[in-house]
Formats: sequence, C-alpha cells, structure tokens
Amino acid sequence: MSFPLRTVLPAAAILLAIGCSSDRTSPTEASLNDALPAPTVTASSVQSALEVAMSLPADLRGNAPVIAHVTVSNRSRATVVVPDWQLPSEEMETAQFVVRRDGRTVSFAEPHIKRGASQAVPMIRLAPGVALSYDIELSRAYDFSQNGGYTIEFVSRGANAGQAPLRSTVQEVRLDGRGASLTSVGPSAFVGPNSAASITALASLLTYTKCSSTQQTQVATAVASAATYATAAKSYMAANVLGQRYTKWFGTVSAANANTVKAHYVAIDDAFATKPITVDCSCRKNYYAYVYASQPYKIYVCNAFWSAKNVGTDSRAGTLIHEMSHFTVVAGTSDWAYGQSAAASLALSNIAKAISNADSHEYFAENTPLLP
Ligand SMILES: [Zn+2]
Repeated sequence: MSFPLRTVLPAAAILLAIGCSSDRTSPTEASLNDALPAPTVTASSVQSALEVAMSLPADLRGNAPVIAHVTVSNRSRATVVVPDWQLPSEEMETAQFVVRRDGRTVSFAEPHIKRGASQAVPMIRLAPGVALSYDIELSRAYDFSQNGGYTIEFVSRGANAGQAPLRSTVQEVRLDGRGASLTSVGPSAFVGPNSAASITALASLLTYTKCSSTQQTQVATAVASAATYATAAKSYMAANVLGQRYTKWFGTVSAANANTVKAHYVAIDDAFATKPITVDCSCRKNYYAYVYASQPYKIYVCNAFWSAKNVGTDSRAGTLIHEMSHFTVVAGTSDWAYGQSAAASLALSNIAKAISNADSHEYFAENTPLLP
C-alpha cells in the first residue's frame, strides 16, 4: 500500500484549498493550519512561484518498476492557482515526462480513459509554503524494457495563459537486467485451465491492488456482472439475428462488420471467463476508469466508477466491458465517442469507428433501455 506521501514545507503557514471540492484526494491534501489570507497569484508569475523537484533511484536492477517521486512546492509568499492538468498526475493521462534512452526518446503509451460527457477542469490552489508530492510509476506508460542510461525530466503542458511549463531538472537512471517487455506482462504468466496448477490459477483470476474490502466486494460483483453481459452479447451475436440492438450501436448490418463485432465479444467473454484480471482502486480522478492497451488485464477504476450503479447505462459492469475491449489482445478498441448520444450518432455517421469504439461495445452489452 503506497499512497502518495504528503509533504509540507515549511511547517508553518500552510493552507491548501481545492478549487473543485469534488476532485483531488490524490495527492493527499494538506491540513488547514493557518487561516491568514494570502495574496493570490495566477498566470504569468506561476512559473517562478512553483518549484518542481524530482528524485529517482540512480540504478535499478531487474524488472523493478521505475517510480519518480515528484514534489511541486510553492516557494512564494502568495497563493498560486493552477489547473489540475498542469500538475503531475499519477494516472499519467498525458506524457508529462521527457524520457530518453541513450539520447533517443522513449515511447509513451497513453492510457485509454472512460470519461463522462463533460467535466469541468479543477483548479488547484497552493498556499505559500505548501508542497504536493506524487509517486508516479513511469514504467506503466513509458518503455523501460531496454537496459541502458536513461534521462528523465518532468515537463508540464504549458498552455495555461501562455506561461512556460513547470519543469524539473533532468535526472539520470541506469537500468540493468531488464528481462520482460511491457507487452509480455500478463497473459504469458497465466497458467491454462488444463495444467496441473489450474486450481491455484483460477483461484486468483481476480486480484486487487489498493482496494478496501468494501471495494473488493463491489469490484467482484461488477466483474461477475460484466462476465454475464459479455456472455449475453456473445450469444446475441452468435444467433446472427441482428436487430435494433445491433444497428443502434454498430450501424447498418454488413457481414464483415458483424463478424468483427462477434469476434470482439468472443474475446471479451473469454477474457472475463479465463484471464487473470487485476483491478487497481488507487485512482482518484473524476472519470470512470482507464487501462493501458498493451497491459492486459489490469484495469484502474476511478471516482465515477464508484458512484455508478452495478448494472445499466454507464454502470460498473459496463465500464469493465469498455475497459476490457481496449486491450490489444482482446478487441483493441479506441475511444472515438463518449456517452450514449455520441455513440449512437457514430453508428449513423461512421460505422468503421462505431465497431471499434469502446463505449459502443459497452452500450450494446448493457442494452439499456432494452432493444431486441
Ligand atoms: Zn476508453
């Protein structure tokens, strides 16, 4: 259990207010310690007011995860307001780091995120002397599969009111003894149902990372319901009587497209039935969930997942169908459109995208309201 650490510098005069109260429990908020109002700084002077420090181990051996400890401190005498997206993110929605191996840029695999229809950007207020700390597992998204000398630098997106991005200094890390690449994590480790070890493997088909016991119960229920959804969707496609339920989400029927969709649900159903799924509950963002397409079968669930119902439109079970469809070894879907209305429009305007859209697969599986 390693939740982000809280670091507060210095001990006195600490006030961290959050612009959007429904967001951000990660990193942990500093406590209210001094109610003295401070002047507020926005835009142009933010760059000099905030300092970014990063530390990493200089040497890593074997396949240890590469974790950057990043601290953003307000060293000025004024409160600083920045958009959430400019600060480091443990979810790594975008490439916030410049990573090079022996001088060459290392690839970044963006997570596939299930978002709701629209969300306001939370603004984060940092009082004078406050620091936010993050532990960011870079090896989830950046390719550290090769041995060598890496340089790593944090560089925020800088479009806020034209100011320069937040930057750390460049850190150097040497990796030795890297064995498995990112893509070999997961399925290869699974022991098939016919082997002698199958009883052990089946017992741990669903594992949890950083989930409370209540969350584990909710996740287990959602996974079971997702498996039921997947089997029903597969059966519908196998029966080959494609009605409104199909055309609503995947458009006018053609044999080739129907075969593609059918294969997707066969793969999704197989994944829920036989693959080792890991659900990580550490995300504190307001969207539903995310995955890295090349890292089956690990699913990160976020705030909207917990406030959703178990089944029905945009439910927990449906979200799991959505996320499972993203994995390259499952259906390799993308996020072309979010929400029922946009997904239904996609079926009318662009069938090729509809049959590769994750939310379309979710809504077909949820089948709410019920269509024949
Ligand atoms: Zn998605």
